[in-house]
Amino acid sequence: MEKPSCPKCEHPKVVKSGVVGGRQRFKCKKCGYHFTVEKLGKSIDKYYVVKALQLYIEGISYREIERILGVSHVSVMNWVKQYKIKAPENYDYRPTYKVLNHAELVKFMSLKENLTNTGMMITELGDKYMIIKWVRFKNR
Ligand SMILES: [Zn+2]
Repeated sequence: MEKPSCPKCEHPKVVKSGVVGGRQRFKCKKCGYHFTVEKLGKSIDKYYVVKALQLYIEGISYREIERILGVSHVSVMNWVKQYKIKAPENYDYRPTYKVLNHAELVKFMSLKENLTNTGMMITELGDKYMIIKWVRFKNR
């Protein structure tokens, strides 16, 4: 991996300084500024592969996954094939989802009715959070 130059002072001499959140952290030798660099390619893709497959298993359609994650539904179909994922057929509940920032998430969780008679999963999505929520069909 080629070392980047400092984004603050553009000094070319930087040293590795640990890993934060899966990203390599660097320290500028001149001004002491710390910064991280996205690892390119595969690791970012993997993140979206896992999220997409989670959503697929929860019964969310390819088109909806495309809309939520911003990855093409063709990619999602390929991943489902590649990883041999088979979603169980389920018709007695319906998944819904919301993408919220942290403040919205806190507000959502503070309302008891949002947590009543439901199951949910919260997963990090970029700099936001996604709630997948299951609502049982009422005509049972
Ligand atoms: Zn610097």
